[in-house]
Amino acid sequence: MTTSHARSYDFDLFVIGGGSAGVRCARIAAGHGARVGVAEERFWGGTCVNIGCVPKKLMVMAADYRGMIEDSRGFGWDAHTGAHDWPKLIAAKDAEIARLNTIYVNLLDSAGATAFEARATFLDAHTLDVGGKRVTAERIVVATGGHPSRLDIPGGEHAIISDQVFYLPEMPRRVVMVGGGYVAVEFACMFAGLGAEVDLVMRQDLPLRGFDEDLRTELAEALAANGIRIHRTRAVLRIETDGAEKIVHFKDGAPITTDLVFSAIGRTPLTESLGLEAAGVVTDGFGAIRVDIGNATNVPTIFAIGDVTNRINLTPVATAEGHTLADRLFADVARDWALDRVASAVFSSPPIATVGLTEAEAAARGPADVYCIRFTPMRHVLSGRRSRKTFMKLIVDQRSQRVLGAHMIGEDAPEMMQGISIALNCGATKHDFDRTVGIHPTSAEEWVTLRTRTRVAEGPRSPAAETQLVDPVEIGAAEMGVGG
Ligand code: NDP
Repeated sequence: MTTSHARSYDFDLFVIGGGSAGVRCARIAAGHGARVGVAEERFWGGTCVNIGCVPKKLMVMAADYRGMIEDSRGFGWDAHTGAHDWPKLIAAKDAEIARLNTIYVNLLDSAGATAFEARATFLDAHTLDVGGKRVTAERIVVATGGHPSRLDIPGGEHAIISDQVFYLPEMPRRVVMVGGGYVAVEFACMFAGLGAEVDLVMRQDLPLRGFDEDLRTELAEALAANGIRIHRTRAVLRIETDGAEKIVHFKDGAPITTDLVFSAIGRTPLTESLGLEAAGVVTDGFGAIRVDIGNATNVPTIFAIGDVTNRINLTPVATAEGHTLADRLFADVARDWALDRVASAVFSSPPIATVGLTEAEAAARGPADVYCIRFTPMRHVLSGRRSRKTFMKLIVDQRSQRVLGAHMIGEDAPEMMQGISIALNCGATKHDFDRTVGIHPTSAEEWVTLRTRTRVAEGPRSPAAETQLVDPVEIGAAEMGVGG
């Protein structure tokens, strides 16, 4: 697919950004025989590998051990949590990230792409400044991702952002988390699990705006069960310091004194000072690069993939975009991803996983049958942590009986939801779920034994307000095969 005049450029393709999207795009394109350059100014693997998904999950796992050690006592173990060694966790995490960085560079190397550890900026639509060197390319892909937004309030600089949480020299004893999205929820649970006192300050009534309302309600209960103090519909006015302590002031209510303020209020696309104007590339009011369905910008030879386009800001979507683009440009292969049904997880404690439509979204399209179950999983019958519930929900289009959405909070939810998302992408109906034989005793078998409809959802309404959850057998419903 490389055109003959491409030979007058240094590269057929140049990728700005060595994160998940950029590395995938670069190495697949190089594998197809394209001459590929890729520049990364900070760390190979980008946010996900270095200061996002991967280290976050390791830290969440560390926090989970506390509950598991305590749970084991109910099973006869004389186990005690003792002290947690934060620097040891951070050092172990750093060693793993260093290993992954090397793998990313090797992947590029073995694919035959040229890696530049430098900043790249546009000089014109085909020319870049890469660490002071002029480099030309027939096509250029922007894959610079995003960065955490900072609180724009007096003293906002006293709050850390997610980039910093992975390198804290010591574990804070008290944390004020600002925000109610993915990052806020995950790190609130992580810090609480490691023994910190956590205050979660949200401007909404429930966390995770945009998620299914029942799931949001269940999550709020789970956060409280973890000992997290939730401050609903509350806005931070200013942050002051007093020695090492931080004092968080609100528009209403008493201030909170804490060791760490963590601002988790969303992310901004990284397009500033990329020189996009020199290339004529258009961004939206939020700084995200505007692209069409094929990731092309308004300049036909310049593309953008991943979080810099601010659409579905998830790593697997970014890598899918990078892969698809490289295949299309250099191998004439069209890939087909189900981007309208992307499953996602929030690594709270217990975790959340979801795929497809929420109840409100489904109801807005037409009548939907809603099936819910809430139970104490088998482990917690003996562990004594009865407040740690599992909640599952299926949303079914009443007319076609196709399953439109599946939502869960509970142990192993993300591991289960990957399989459920395949079923939804295959167009599974409720009957397909019903005729599937369960695996016993598991929580997962509840997905195929949900027999009693909880309610019918119709029209624009507030499902949370009307929810009457079934709790058929309070203890061990799923694993004992008596739920649903
Ligand atoms: P989110 O967009 O998920 O959430 C931002 C939160 O901050 C919302 O609760 C929002 O409230 C609140 N907020 C925004 N501005 C302010 C403000 N000025 N003052 C107070 N609160 C504010 O962002 P995150 O940073 O949590 O995560 C960024 C993205 O990264 C996610 O959307 C997701 O795509 C990705 N991510 C995915 C993860 C996963 O897959 N497990 C994990 C972590 C991140 P409101 O609802 O009112 O707007």
